[in-house]
Amino acid sequence: MNKKTIQTSLIHSDYEAPGGFDAFPPGIHRASTVLFENVAAMRAGQWKDKSAYTYGLHGTPTTFTLEARLAGIEGGSHCLLAPSGLSAIAMINFAFLASGDDVLLPENVYNPNRELGRWLSQDFGVTARFYDPMIGAGIAALIQPNTRLIWTEAPGSVSMEVPDLPAICGAAKEKGVPVALDNTWSAGLALRGFDAGADIVMHALTKYQSGGADLLMGAVITRERALNERLAQAHMRLGLGVGADDAYLVMRGLPTMKLRFEAHDLGARKVAAWLKGRPEIAKVLHPAFEDCPGHAHWKRDFSGAGGLFSVLFDPRHTEDQTDRFVDSLELFGLGYSWGGPNSLVMPYRMGAIRSRWMEEGVLVRFNIGLESPDDLIADIEQAIARL
Ligand SMILES: *Cc1c(COP(=O)(O)O)cnc(C)c1O
Repeated sequence: MNKKTIQTSLIHSDYEAPGGFDAFPPGIHRASTVLFENVAAMRAGQWKDKSAYTYGLHGTPTTFTLEARLAGIEGGSHCLLAPSGLSAIAMINFAFLASGDDVLLPENVYNPNRELGRWLSQDFGVTARFYDPMIGAGIAALIQPNTRLIWTEAPGSVSMEVPDLPAICGAAKEKGVPVALDNTWSAGLALRGFDAGADIVMHALTKYQSGGADLLMGAVITRERALNERLAQAHMRLGLGVGADDAYLVMRGLPTMKLRFEAHDLGARKVAAWLKGRPEIAKVLHPAFEDCPGHAHWKRDFSGAGGLFSVLFDPRHTEDQTDRFVDSLELFGLGYSWGGPNSLVMPYRMGAIRSRWMEEGVLVRFNIGLESPDDLIADIEQAIARL
């Protein structure tokens, strides 16, 4: 067809850029529609095993490349991306749970996952039960014939207990129940989830993989084809596609992730050690410190630590006082999430997010960013003086 009106020429062009282009950065492929070579190729196209492209939602070279790199970090073989860490959690729950099923979650699970469990219980005919994160092999007694999924998180959100993952996973394996691990804190660097016995490893890429505090994304990684197929089905049914630009940004963060992670670790341990020496602080809930429940599990199973930890103030300080401390910090932003260059702080009312919280004293969580730890300590020192 050689005679086109201008309107059509604005959309259709015969130009083709020369082939053979190569560069280190992977290409950014944006697409909703994916074009098929012909009808036969369209009919043969399989999105499930990633052997072909069928629709932007089911993957592009950009998302497939990121998925392969993330699977490699964990030593897994399959990976699916989701638009946030929480939607990656939802993908897992919807892949493995149906009406009549039972799911076990630790008391210290990421709170929106707890909230999703409650919703599944209330409106979807699933029972969600919460267990003591330090239960270890004792989890065997909680597993019922209808238990279809066990969640773990290491360490748990906010209160930072480190579970005995091999014991929990071993008991689950004996009963044939898959274990999902939220491995966000370790980024797959300080702890490799499959080595600890998990069957499904989930990450909020929003944190260390992105490293920029500028996007949201999640990933679910598995080693077994059958598990991945169930997840891929849920991924497709829930429509959990991610944008190519965000996928590219995560890929851009990966080469520096280990170096950043080690800097966060170093800074966090320095700040935590300083806090440990202060009379205003009753406990330092950092997995590398003895105050932290499960410290021995961390020593046995982990090769490092992230930048996130919590402290318990001595109970003689009121919440008004600790609020004043938080408000007096200058280098720490008051906000959720973590993994970016900026340090963050957040006070928690533990009674509202735990059913069995026995500790006294206000809990404050710190995310140590990439600033100089000495400057951060000086900032905390001036804020403590205003308690
Ligand atoms: C941040 C976080 C999530 C959720 O990630 P979003 O991308 O913010 O939805 C899940 N689990 C843990 C442990 C997290 O810290």
